[in-house]
Amino acid sequence: MAQRLQGKTILITGASSGIGRSCALEFARTAPRDLRLVLTARRTDRLREVAEQIRAEVGDGVKVLPVELDVADPVAVRGFVGGLPEEWRGVDVLVNNAGLVKGVARAPEIAENDINVMFQTNVTGLINMTQAILPIFKARPEGGAGDIINIGSIAGREPYPGGSIYCATKAAVRAFSDSLRKELIDTRIRVMEVDPGQVETEFSVVRFYGDKSKADAVYAGCDPLTPEDIAEVVVFVAGRRQNVVIADTLIFPSHQA
Ligand code: NDP
Repeated sequence: MAQRLQGKTILITGASSGIGRSCALEFARTAPRDLRLVLTARRTDRLREVAEQIRAEVGDGVKVLPVELDVADPVAVRGFVGGLPEEWRGVDVLVNNAGLVKGVARAPEIAENDINVMFQTNVTGLINMTQAILPIFKARPEGGAGDIINIGSIAGREPYPGGSIYCATKAAVRAFSDSLRKELIDTRIRVMEVDPGQVETEFSVVRFYGDKSKADAVYAGCDPLTPEDIAEVVVFVAGRRQNVVIADTLIFPSHQA
């Protein structure tokens, strides 16, 4: 697998924490030579820490480009892709990971701003990135080549009370992934989705607007997955030979069955 990833350019959104950060580290550890990692998020200080950790662990064989990017801003996304330095432009794998949940409330009480932020990040942001990267993939021979790995959620399959908007965004990601895969059937562009269940990250801190005690309560008394558990699956999926499409993977802790 490491050989197949060698020489690739991997672009990860939301790489400043949680699953995205772990994906960056896992790609670097799996293919520690001639790999390029474009790491994006809004918190650049956190991206630089990830870049430093990679350098400390695997040395200079992995090149890292941290870039500030808000996926919900379509102009910024187009400018970012168009402005990538020449040697970074040949993106092979896009991991659409940036996402969030805001608030826990029954549908009639959800704040308008929270609805907008969730859709603009989880759905429109993911589509913005995909539209911006697809021309790079399509410029390759035989109709094009490249991998899009979308991070969905168990929430897109099993909606729960209090999470209607977040669940709806992840159901939208699923529909988008499935449609796009079919649209690209005559190419070597793979569209794959990894759907995590409960993973302990900063996700719940964001959900409760930074209230750490409420966030910690979400994981109390259960044994959630770690972001590394998801990163291992993402890297596995990306490392299959080109003809193997792992379209859809659901991964959750045993207590969540
Ligand atoms: P984290 O909060 O740790 O990470 C979320 C990442 O998304 C951060 O790096 C954040 O970076 C980034 N992000 C959020 N909004 C934007 C934006 N507008 N533009 C760019 N980047 C953004 O949570 P997770 O690692 O858990 O979440 C990663 C993905 O996994 C999400 O799509 C989430 O929905 C999904 N998921 C998580 C589960 C869980 O239980 N944790 C379960 C199922 C799915 P920054 O703030 O620096 O911009």
